[in-house]
Order: sequence, then C-alpha cells, then structure tokens
Amino acid sequence: MSTKHDLLFDTAHCNGYDRISPDELSAAEAYCDGYKAFLTASKTEREFVSNAVSLAEENGFRPLIRGETLTPGDRVYRINRNKSLLLAVIGKEGLDKGVAICAAHIDSPRLDIKPNPLVEDSEFAILKTHYYGGIRKYHWVSIPLELHGVVCLKTGETVQVSIGKDTSDPLLTIPDLLPHLADKQAKEPLYAAFSGEDLNLMVGSKPYPDQEEKERFKLMVLDLLHEKYGITEADFISAELCAVPAYDARDYGLDRSLIGAYGQDDKVCGYAALRALLDTADSLNRTGVCMLVDKEEIGSEGVSGMKSLFFDTFVSDLCDAQGVPLKTCYENAFCLSADVTAAFDPNFASVYELQNASRVNWGVGVAKYTGSRGKGESNDAGAETVAKLRRLLDDAGVIWHLAELGKVDVGGGGTVAMYMANRNIETIDAGTPVLAMHAPLELTGKLDCYMTYRCMKAVYCG
Ligand code: MN
Ligand code: MN
Repeated sequence: MSTKHDLLFDTAHCNGYDRISPDELSAAEAYCDGYKAFLTASKTEREFVSNAVSLAEENGFRPLIRGETLTPGDRVYRINRNKSLLLAVIGKEGLDKGVAICAAHIDSPRLDIKPNPLVEDSEFAILKTHYYGGIRKYHWVSIPLELHGVVCLKTGETVQVSIGKDTSDPLLTIPDLLPHLADKQAKEPLYAAFSGEDLNLMVGSKPYPDQEEKERFKLMVLDLLHEKYGITEADFISAELCAVPAYDARDYGLDRSLIGAYGQDDKVCGYAALRALLDTADSLNRTGVCMLVDKEEIGSEGVSGMKSLFFDTFVSDLCDAQGVPLKTCYENAFCLSADVTAAFDPNFASVYELQNASRVNWGVGVAKYTGSRGKGESNDAGAETVAKLRRLLDDAGVIWHLAELGKVDVGGGGTVAMYMANRNIETIDAGTPVLAMHAPLELTGKLDCYMTYRCMKAVYCG
C-alpha cells in the first residue's frame, strides 16, 4: 500500500479504455471481427455446434473414443444430439488434479414453430409459433426473421432448413398492429398487450392456381416447401424450426465500440470459451474442458441441457483413460460458469444499484451470485473462490469488474453455475456485460468481449 488513498476501492478509474494498451486494443478489434462472423453464421445451437466442430477440427481436435488412451496434448470433442458440444485438451498434469472448465450456453430466446403450425386465415397462410425462453413479446413483431432448423423424416433422413440467410431468399415477419387502430391495445399493461398466440408468422398470400383445390393459400406454401425440401405438412410434427432475427452481427455506435447482434446471450461467452481453448491448447498444464450447452434458457433441462449426465459421461470417459475416479477429478476441478451479465443502462437506471452493477467497457463481469428473492436458485460462490478468480484475473492482466444482476428484489435470473456446483465442482459466474439482454438485438462492448476471452484463457491456464 503506497498511500492512504489505496484503502479505497477505486472505481473512478475502472473504464477499460483508460487501462487497455494500444496493442491489446487492436487485438480486441481482430478478435471481435472473428466473433461477429461466427455469430452471424451461428444463430441456433445446432449451427453453433456445427461451426464450432469445423473450427475445432481445423485446430486438430477429433471425436473422443470411449476406452482409448489419452496423452497430454490430445484434443478431443463429443457432440451431444447435435445441440451441445464438449471439447477437451488433455493437460500435462493428470486428471486427478482436476480440470479447468469454461461452461457457456449456446441456445438463445427465439420463436419456435409449433408442431402443427400452418393455418389459412382470410387469404393468408400463417405459421403459428411457441416462444422459447424469456422474451418480451413486443420485441418480435415487425422485424425481419429467418427460418432455421431441421425436419426429421420418418425415414431417418434429416432435412436442413435455412430460409432468409441467403440475400436472394425471402424473409418472414409478424406484422404489428398499426397505431391508428391500437387505442385499446395501447391501454393494456405491457405483458398483456401481446399474447403468445398472436405471434404468428405471415408466410403467404398467393392462392394455389387450381381453383378446384381447398385451402389454396396454405397449399401454395406447402407446394413450395415440398419443391425445395421434399416435405409435407405432417412432417412439421417432427421438425425443429426456429424463427430468428435476420440481421448480421455488426458494429454499433458512432465510435464503433459496441457489437449489436441477436443471440449474444450466451454465444458471446460460448465463442470466447471455444476460442480460448483453441488458443491455449499447446500450453495447458491442467486438462481444459469447454462446455457449450443447450437449454439454459428454459431451465437447463433435457438431454442436451446442463442437468444432463452427458457432461459427467464425457469427463468420466476422460478419467477412465487415466484410471482416475471421476469424484477425485470433480473435487479438484474449477468451473467458470460463463454467462452474460446485465449491463447498467442509464435509460433504466432505477432497476440497477450502480455501485454493484455490471458496466459496459469495464471488462468481464464477475458475479459471486445471481438468483432472485434473496439469492434463490443461485450458486453463490464462496469468498475463497472469488479470491481465487480475482488473483487469477489480476495476475493475467485481465480487465474485470464485479457484477450484480440488479437492485435487490427487482427481478432476477440464473445460469448453469448451480448445476456445475451441485456436481461438487468449485464454480463461479463471470461473463460479458450486455445491454438489452434477450432482445432480438443485444449490445455488448468490444473491449468486454475480448476481456471475456482473456478471462477464459486465464482459467484454462490457471
Ligand atoms: Mn445466459
Ligand atoms: Mn438468457
């Protein structure tokens, strides 16, 4: 301690732009270019998995084979039902010393198409949706949407669907009510003004030419889908089609300091966790594990979610290769639950408690706890764990700050942290601050995206 002033926790000089070196700033810009391109190509968890596997294979990763012998430096991965992905780099130390895990989710809120979705009404063909995750419904009307996903046929064949990505493709939208006729709706509370059953995609307005046919508007759409994809109306039953925003990840702000894109929660951390593992693979002492998981937005349930035994099976297969008990590996492991934090927004200042709020351009946000109503459903990392991460990040020169979700009792939310911690793995939350989280267009700071990546590198190497 040099002066009495050092007794104070100095948050007056926390803006990362006052602390980052010019070299790091250009590295951040290059990193963000890669991130934007990856995100634009990866709007669903299935697309994220497929693009991540390509990137991993280019970097020497191969599928893990159960029962094989693993040696330091081996790079392996395993795909779970096309929706989540685990990657590992075997460290110089044995798995009895634990693993360093970065766990992020790669699903994002969106509009899923219903199992029997197509209706004809007043000479329009319409696709019914059922929203996925916590959306504000009014965000999803009158914006351009694409249709991404798969149709799984009874034959066992899977048809990949992508409509809107190519600039020659048509787009879809849900037309909003005109203000001229919205007097009644405008007086309703926000949560009631838009109902889930109103989120219907306009997909056609042209009749099938044969006037003898019934439901000609619906038939026209089915005819086009059959021509392009070979599917019938009944095939929607075993399809997973999602309406996702149609725009690319781009620079935002006149100073280009921000990235605006769909699905940054939590692909911003997913990409950082992946990229960091690829970039540290040559130098890991401890085995590094990158978990890119599905279903966080609906409670981490299901076979591809964080509660699934898939994670345990994968790490157990790694442990078997070295004859190490899984429980020994877990009790010595460290997990960064990498998920976005709610960045302070001056337009909505009243919901934040500024002294403990996450801030754009203050680097990666570290959250001791999340949850709601008195930390309910939160991991609440121990002070020892917070101290360990503080030391790790400071030693690595990572710009970071602490991040609480908002004012006490104003709301809340969770991450995958508790499901990792329940496995007897030391776990703490950290991630990129986001403005307009869960909106179809989310904003992050470029400096923070880069520092999230630097944070993951520190965890793998720590
Ligand atoms: Mn999230
Ligand atoms: Mn979320």
